[in-house]
Order: sequence, then C-alpha cells, then structure tokens
Amino acid sequence: MDQEYYIGLENTFGAHNYEPLDVVLQRGQGVWVWDVEGNKYLDCLSAYSAVNQGHCHPKIIAALVEQAKKLTLTSRAFRNDQLGPFYKEICELTSSHKVLPMNSGAEAVETVIKAVRKWGYQVKGVPRDEAEIIVCENNFHGRTITIVGFSTDQPSRADFGPFTPGFKIIPFGSAEALRQAITPNTVAFLVEPIQGEAGVIIPPAGYLKEVRKICTENNIVLVLDEIQTGLGRTGKLLAEEYEGIESDLSLIGKALSGGFYPISAVLSNKEVLGVLRPGEHGSTFGGNPLACAIARAAIKVLVEENMIENAALMGDYFLSGLSSIKSPLIKEVRGRGLMIAVELFPEAGGARKFCKKLMSKGLLCKETHENTIRISPPLVIKKEEVDWAVERIESVLTTEADS
Ligand SMILES: *Cc1c(COP(=O)(O)O)cnc(C)c1O
Repeated sequence: MDQEYYIGLENTFGAHNYEPLDVVLQRGQGVWVWDVEGNKYLDCLSAYSAVNQGHCHPKIIAALVEQAKKLTLTSRAFRNDQLGPFYKEICELTSSHKVLPMNSGAEAVETVIKAVRKWGYQVKGVPRDEAEIIVCENNFHGRTITIVGFSTDQPSRADFGPFTPGFKIIPFGSAEALRQAITPNTVAFLVEPIQGEAGVIIPPAGYLKEVRKICTENNIVLVLDEIQTGLGRTGKLLAEEYEGIESDLSLIGKALSGGFYPISAVLSNKEVLGVLRPGEHGSTFGGNPLACAIARAAIKVLVEENMIENAALMGDYFLSGLSSIKSPLIKEVRGRGLMIAVELFPEAGGARKFCKKLMSKGLLCKETHENTIRISPPLVIKKEEVDWAVERIESVLTTEADS
C-alpha cells in the first residue's frame, strides 16, 4: 500500500485534531525511521522527546517482551514486583524521596495540582478552596480542561471553557513577576525549566535560582515540569541541574519509557506527596508492572549508554553547526543539549514549508508556532549524523534565500 492509502484512512475516519506532515512511518531504529514506501529519514523530533533513547532500543524491547509474558496489570488494589524496584531506582537516580506514577504527562500535572492544593490546606493553612497556583505565559503542560484553562495559547483554550479557577499567569523568565504575584494563598509555582512547546525558550541565567529562593522564602512549592526537558534532553538528567537547584516536585514523562508506553511520574523532594491518603487519587494503569519494567530498562540504558553525556556533546556540536549557517532567513539559533530551535524571521514565510522541504531531503522535524523549527533528535545521534542534518538544514535555508 502506498502512503495515500493510509492518509486517506486517517482523514476519513479520524478526528482532525492534528495536522501531521504527510509521511506514513512504519519502522524505526535508533535515530532513523522508514516510511511505508521504504524511504529513510533522520528523526529530529523524537516524538516530542519521548524517544530520547532512540527508536526500538533492543534492551527496552527485551524488558517489554519479558514482562508482557509474565504480568501486565494488577491495578493498585494489589502490589506487584516491578513497582517497588522502579520507585527505588528512580528515587536514587534523581535524589527524590517519593514518587507517584501515572500514565500521561497531563495526568502527572493534574496529580501535582491536587497534591499542592491539599498541601496548601493541610500544611500551609490556606483557607479551603482558596489555593492559588502561579503559572507562566506561553506554558505547555498538557491538554486537560484544567490545564488548558491556564494556557495562554488561544487555539488550545478558546471554546473549551468554563475553566478551573485558582491559577494566576505571569511572564516567563521574570523572578520579579513571581515575587509580585504571591499572596498568602499561593501554594505553588508551576514552571518549565525551558519552555519547549513555546519554541525552546530559555530563561535568563539565574532565573531558576532566584525562583527557588523566592519559593523557599514564601513557603511555596516549586514544581518543575521536566516532562520534555528531563531525562537527558538538555544534556543533564534534569534541566534544574544547570542552575544547581532542586525543585520540591518534578514531573517526568515522555522519555521515561523510551517511547514504548505512556508512563509519567511525580517526583518529590519535599513531603508534599505525603498529604495524599488512600482513596484520594489513583489510576487503573498507573504503576502497572509492564510500565515499571519498561521504565526501569529505559532509565538504565539512558545512564549506562552515556546518552546524557552524548546529548551535551552532540547538542553543542549541533548548535555550533547550525549557528555557522549563513542565511538571511534565520533570526536566532538557540538550544541546550539536544533541545534546539531555529527561529526564522516572519518574512521567511513560516517554518512549516521548510519542514516539508527537509522531509523531502530525508529529515523529519516539526514547526512550533509559526516561525520556529524545533530540532530534537534521539540522544544517541552521532557526529556524522549531525553533520548530515546540518548540511540539509543549511541547503534548505540557503537555497530558499536565493529564490
Ligand atoms: C508533552 C508535555 C506535557 C504533556 O504530556 P502528555 O503525555 O502529552 O500528556 C506536559 N508538559 C510538558 C512540558 C510537555 O512537553
């Protein structure tokens, strides 16, 4: 079957809540994927950083297959022999005290909202139903009603109200704005260390350190959403390490399974999760043995195969390659580790057409908003593959300028 067949099926029977590039993928290995017609592409999106370990990593496959044959789901009505070891390993790796497993990123965010609200009422002494959580403009934390309610992206929220109250929105990158937004009812500040969906927006140096200080001074829970920045993407295990801080709660997801399975987790450094009692929160699939076995393998290969170090090295190399491209279309190249963006001037006519051209040259990436091309390959990318990618990106951004 050719691509048109599959595209036709999707368009006919599926809801149109996405606008994918028209490439129908069938197979993947490492940084490479193949479409149904056998064409090969370098994946520079990694499923929005869920496939940090590379496609179909053999050790994660082995863990999945082995566990799938033994036991997949017990619910949390009973215990299973993968959950405890997963807790221990993720806590040791991230120096966390406690962990709460969920499935999607959005569920981890929802979990945190519940936990910090209850913490506010029971520990901080905020009057019931008056807790406030501060978030940032241009945030991306997921797609549930509560979460899109505090989004500032119009397509994400318009026509989906009414929304959950209790959120205050401040500019990203301004510690002063945080200071001013705090009231006695503030329980938490929820922020991405680097805003991914907004277009890889890196805050000013020292921002997180200052934020950490402000939260401590005001007895506010600092929640870092590391669902995209975490697990090696920026060249550190967690992006918070760049400023030498520790959050109170960190959210991870995406690459926690290496792209095999929806798994997310709330990691706690402070006794916030302790406020949740039996019956107050849960998920049928959260913490299931299959998920835990997969996550254990995914974390293990990330560390043992030095993918985090590679992300730092190859990230610098990729960034310097992209920075050396001379094109009047490029407004800015920025990034940290392998979380990279090439922002074009609006006159370039939008990033999507360049993503399409790159696709025809065998490189898959995705625009974010109008003018930014996001580049985030699996962390196993090699130097020659970076060279290969830079060459193609350069040709696309320089031939266009001539025409
Ligand atoms: C992807 C993402 C989420 C949502 O994760 P889902 O698994 O899609 O629900 C939340 N926060 C950040 C920063 C993300 O990148």
